[in-house]
Amino acid sequence: MGGFLFDEMIFGPVRSRRLGVSLGINLLPLHAKFCSYNCIYCECGWTKNRSGMRIELPNAQDLAVVLEQKLQELSGTDMEPDSITFAGNGEPTMHPNFAEIIDLTISLRNQFAPKALVSVLSNGSMLHKSGITEALMKADKVMLKLDGGTEEIIRKINMPLKAFRLSEYVKQLKQFNGKLIIQSLFLRGKYNGQDVDNTKIEEIDAWLRLLLEVHPLEVMIYAIERETPEEGLEKVPESELEIIAQRVRSAGLPASVFA
Ligand code: SF4
Repeated sequence: MGGFLFDEMIFGPVRSRRLGVSLGINLLPLHAKFCSYNCIYCECGWTKNRSGMRIELPNAQDLAVVLEQKLQELSGTDMEPDSITFAGNGEPTMHPNFAEIIDLTISLRNQFAPKALVSVLSNGSMLHKSGITEALMKADKVMLKLDGGTEEIIRKINMPLKAFRLSEYVKQLKQFNGKLIIQSLFLRGKYNGQDVDNTKIEEIDAWLRLLLEVHPLEVMIYAIERETPEEGLEKVPESELEIIAQRVRSAGLPASVFA
């Protein structure tokens, strides 16, 4: 399937359960996905980045103009955003000017939507790059992906396109000193004839151990919501996600379920 793709640089606002009225910013190409992962559940479809592929990303100054207009238009209405949210057709921190864009978004938020939080949904794959962790730490809400507690399950579910070391990623997450939210999606199914299941007891145990090392402000637990590129993946029932959340809470961390 083709997947669901955003066709604008600024989208919404939409009412979101976790973020309230959320105005989205898509720093990725329009009508195409650009990501460092190839998650088997990705709503945008499979990742098709190829070397030499021409990628057109929005320019920081154009984004500032459109964002200012939109925030002015929404100011004083019932859709004034609670959150200005970086999401969209892939991984926002892959934008080469991500740090500059965070700064200009915070400045526009301060002028035109002072109550809104600046939120970023990221897979965390660019944390090794200079300036990315610092830029994310300026945001009010940083939601970073951790779909499992072992390299094996993460490779199966997220299929990072470049070398991935879980121990390195955990070290990078710890640099946030707990000022981050972890987002984790649970599923069961098959990919390439192999079982994929991050709901098994031993997988949850390993994931919990990492959560306790990272000590996030909150853990957001999800199930598949839309059509997935890999067919036949099972949506984990809300009651089961609640049991997982309960284990997180019992370990002393806040957890919410979005199913
Ligand atoms: S990290 Fe996000 S955008 Fe990238 S493949 Fe995974 S779900 Fe899709």
